[in-house]
Amino acid sequence: MSRARIVLLNAALGPLDYRVPHGMTVEPGQIVVAPLGPRPMVGVVWDEGSFPDLPTVGDNRLRPLLDVLDAPPLPAPLRRLIEWTADYYLAPIAAVLRMALASMSALEGGKTVIEYRQTGVLPERLTPQRAQALERIGERQGLVRELAAIGGVTDAVIRGLVKQGALEAVEVSTDLPFPEPDPDHVHVALSAEQQAAADRLVAHVADRHFQAVLLDGVTGSGKTEVYFEAIAQALRQGDQSLVLLPEIALTEPFLDRFAKRFGDVPVAWHSGLKQSERRRAWRAISRGEARVVVGARSALFLPYPRLGLIIVDEAHETSFKQEEGVRYHARDVAVMRGLMEQIPVALASATPAIETRHQVELGRYEEIKLPARYGGAELPEIVGIDLTRDPPDRGRWLAPQLVQAIRETLERGEQSLLFLNRRGYAPLTLCRHCGYRFQCPNCSAWMVEHRLTRRLACHHCGHTIPTPDACPECHESDALVACGPGVERIADEVKALFPEARTAIVTSDTLWSPARAAAFVRDMAGGAIDIIVGTQLVTKGYHFPELTLVGVVDADLGLDGGDLRAAERTFQQITQVSGRAGRGEKPGRVFIQTRAPGVPVMEALLHGDEAAFYAAETASRRAANAPPFGRFAAIIVSDTDAALAQETARRIGQAAPRQEGLDVYGPAEAPLAVLRGRHRYRLLVHARRSVDLQTIVRGWLSGLDWKSSTRVSVDVDPYSFV
Ligand code: ADP
Ligand code: ZN
Ligand code: ZN
Repeated sequence: MSRARIVLLNAALGPLDYRVPHGMTVEPGQIVVAPLGPRPMVGVVWDEGSFPDLPTVGDNRLRPLLDVLDAPPLPAPLRRLIEWTADYYLAPIAAVLRMALASMSALEGGKTVIEYRQTGVLPERLTPQRAQALERIGERQGLVRELAAIGGVTDAVIRGLVKQGALEAVEVSTDLPFPEPDPDHVHVALSAEQQAAADRLVAHVADRHFQAVLLDGVTGSGKTEVYFEAIAQALRQGDQSLVLLPEIALTEPFLDRFAKRFGDVPVAWHSGLKQSERRRAWRAISRGEARVVVGARSALFLPYPRLGLIIVDEAHETSFKQEEGVRYHARDVAVMRGLMEQIPVALASATPAIETRHQVELGRYEEIKLPARYGGAELPEIVGIDLTRDPPDRGRWLAPQLVQAIRETLERGEQSLLFLNRRGYAPLTLCRHCGYRFQCPNCSAWMVEHRLTRRLACHHCGHTIPTPDACPECHESDALVACGPGVERIADEVKALFPEARTAIVTSDTLWSPARAAAFVRDMAGGAIDIIVGTQLVTKGYHFPELTLVGVVDADLGLDGGDLRAAERTFQQITQVSGRAGRGEKPGRVFIQTRAPGVPVMEALLHGDEAAFYAAETASRRAANAPPFGRFAAIIVSDTDAALAQETARRIGQAAPRQEGLDVYGPAEAPLAVLRGRHRYRLLVHARRSVDLQTIVRGWLSGLDWKSSTRVSVDVDPYSFV
């Protein structure tokens, strides 16, 4: 090949043709360096014949490629997946490609990097900054930049510590091999039901063909044990396996559990990795040496050369939907990768999404059921508390019946979990004297009080201010009141009621790293915690045998926004959190506090009538032609200038295509009208299945232009409607 079609890592550009200089040979998928203007840039050789619309440039006008990097070529199925993702989600192909080449440093080849760690020697001058850095760094090791971030200091402070001999350099090889998991490390005796489920999955792995499978098992049924058998089969036949988890906080407990079964940990991939870890993982994955990878959604686009199995655990979780950059849904892309690779993909869940159930009904996905908990554990008893009849005391949030249940649980030496999906102390602070409300200066959102850190914080943009003593408007002191509860407020109430109990708050504020999550799991397992107060973070995956009581503080909270999936999400979340109760030998109880015990989703939860709920939800989606029957795409227009945003949105709306089976709503101001200082307008496109939504939207928007300050993004199959 004397010329090559290259996709460069520049989202503003399409593919470009280059000349392959004498003495260089390239093949599709190879990672190369090409000149772009005065600068060299990394790109990937694409297949001849792809992008047929590209104008042909004469050979003599092409610039030559500069270099071929020492990394395996991206496999063909991955190239097809990248094309599909860019096409389906209307994203620049370079932006998708970037997710595959997620470690730029790995592309430089297997090298050693220099990290630093403590020597135990104290610097001559121990400034407060230096002391803080050393204390926070502890046993950790990392690049200067990484240690500065851990220590909360500047790079200069870290370099000072190196000069003073308090930190020393360590050479780390990024090609150190990973341990090989052993499929026969221990033999797990499966129940008959589990064995039947495992056999089916194993057969698909052995066949090496595409099959999407819904592993539909109640909480505690042993879905993990079952899919471990499929991973064991992939290991035996030399294939790589990928396990996607919805939350990096779940990685650490998963690694432990995996190590018990397979003798060693799998390779982890998530945003919390250090640069050297990323580089080592990427290289091992791309060479096929990382045999089992567990990770967040971004692990999906890595260049596995011998992928044999994909598992999406807790597949109903909406955190699989990426809301920034390339707005893709990892569950759906996982199935597509399975198709490209011709391998099985298993979606494991106790509360599958309606979209997934629908695929089963259509016969596209195979369903494997595990209807009972493992080892004879019973599903918990569920009790509703009607807050309109049995209200908490004034200024409190826990009804007497729930308080009594917590007391009984404590007396038995068992553990309780109180669930409220709201971080912080109170969602709104206002002035009793003049009515002033604290709002984020960058977003149309209230500032949430966090008492633990004594700050008010915006949960949308991260803006924080110290909690003031007086009202900024009328300057009255002692006039600020907290409205409504967050987990910190519930924890205060619990401490007042049960001063002797050991209470832990579990949110992304307290479990912000895999290490913190691991410490929490240890404390729970070791019985060092009596009562957890937590957000949706505790609804997922955890298994604590001594946890026998779950209290849902405000079951109606998720129904407020009223979006398409509000009822479904409420059902899933409460079923999942209930599923944490009574997983061991002791029976579990669940109390659900609600003001609306009569609405269908509450009825379904209280009577355990899942099938009826799904049937009713599915019927109403069908009637509204909502997903999975019809399809949506959102167009979000934003600008720091409100008038400009509105004007662009209006022009886009005026140019909307008129077509049978396609409706365009809006533009309207977004519910979150200002976000990070940008004013936002939304249009919603609603289409029948038969309509080629992407082609229409692409054609529609490509005919328009707008100021460079204006951002127009398309969200295909949106999950968020703010
Ligand atoms: P799920 O993911 O379906 O909620 P898990 O896979 O976490 O369920 O299993 C629940 C608990 O039961 C775990 O502690 C697991 O180790 C245990 N368990 C499940 N199946 C078996 C088995 N066949 N042998 C021993 N323990 C099992
Ligand atoms: Zn005031
Ligand atoms: Zn904000």
